[in-house]
This record gives sequence, structure tokens and C-alpha cells, in this order.
Amino acid sequence: MLPVVTIPTIAIAGSADRFPVRRIFCVGQNYAEHAREMGNDPDRQQPFFFTKPADAVVENGTTLPFPVRTADLHHEVELVVALGAGGSDIDAKDAIATIYGSAVGIDLTRRDMQAVAKKAGRPWDMAKGFDRSAPIAALTLGAPPETGAIALTIDGETRQSGDLSMMIWSVAEAIAVLSTYVELAPGDLIFTGTPAGVGPIRAGERVRATIAGLEPLEVAFAA
Ligand code: MN
Repeated sequence: MLPVVTIPTIAIAGSADRFPVRRIFCVGQNYAEHAREMGNDPDRQQPFFFTKPADAVVENGTTLPFPVRTADLHHEVELVVALGAGGSDIDAKDAIATIYGSAVGIDLTRRDMQAVAKKAGRPWDMAKGFDRSAPIAALTLGAPPETGAIALTIDGETRQSGDLSMMIWSVAEAIAVLSTYVELAPGDLIFTGTPAGVGPIRAGERVRATIAGLEPLEVAFAA
């Protein structure tokens, strides 16, 4: 008897249908102030990418167990786009047409583990791609907003506050460059980077992430 494997899915606003998740890609340091707070000089040389497993997605409203093997869990609020089409070497002017919808997501990061990996020149996988590391709200269909507030609060206190227009690489540019590394496909999610203000989440706290025009995302961490 073969094991039964379930395809992860995410909600679609106003629909009973669920969007199947194929892969999760993330853009690193796509807002200048965040790049600076991570100790780097922002530039437009080339965006860089990392991944999370598809089953890292977490439903809106979930209370999560506090992640294992970290004493410095960080929040990164991000605009997420879900692809309904794919391809290789996608031209930036054609990139938005590949998007099925967009949503608010949080790129949860074991920052202490990432710091050790960076220092040792090792991969980020265990710092970024751990279980339940990608909470995401319901998708809103169509092209993502290009401007508008993006913010995150913990227990009602603002920690991150920016605007989508502050991205170094636009969503279209990020898709275009990513499609030169891998052949993109329907079901792929892309986390498009976080504004400044990343910081720790502690057990027992409630995190709310918002982007103007999209469904707010709220998750809690068990005490
Ligand atoms: Mn991120």
C-alpha cells in the first residue's frame, strides 16, 4: 500500500475552491531599508531567491505551536503572488499575466539559525523552510496591487510599516528574473520580500499582517 500524500492548498477569497500549491519561492531583501537592517547595501544588481516546501503553508486564523530549535523567530510580512501560468525566460511585460491572485503572507524565519548559516556559508533551508513557516491569507484574484500600505502588528503594536511601491524589484521583474533560474508553473507561490522592521515573535503573541486591498492575515503562537 502506497502512502497517501496530500497536495497543500490555500484559500481563495469568496470561493469554496482551493488553490493547489506546487512550490514556494521567496525574494530576499527586496526593500532597501530591510536590506540595510540586515547589514547589507541595497542594490539592483540581481534579486536572489530561496525556497520553502509547499506544505509550509498555514491557514489564516491558525494558532501555531512555537517553532522548534529557535530562540529568535522573526516575522516578515510579504505580498505573495500565486501563479496560474508559467514558463521560462518570461518577459517582465508578460509576467503579470501569469498571476492568478495575490495574498498577504508571513515569511517566518528562524533568525538565529539563519545567522549561523550565513556566517558559516551554509544553506538557509532550515532557517527559512521549516514546518508551518508560511502563513498565508486567502487569495484575491487578479493582478496584485503595485502600491499601498503593507504592515504587521504584534498584539496590536505596529512592528512593520511600509508601502508596496518601496520594492527594489517589482513583482513583474522578480517573476522575470526567477523564470531565468527555473521554469515557473501554475501553483507556484512567490513571496516578494519584506519591508523594514523585522523582529522577534514570542510564544503567546498574536501577529496580524495587512496589505491594502487584500484579506488580513492573523495567526497566534501558543503560549
Ligand atoms: Mn522574506
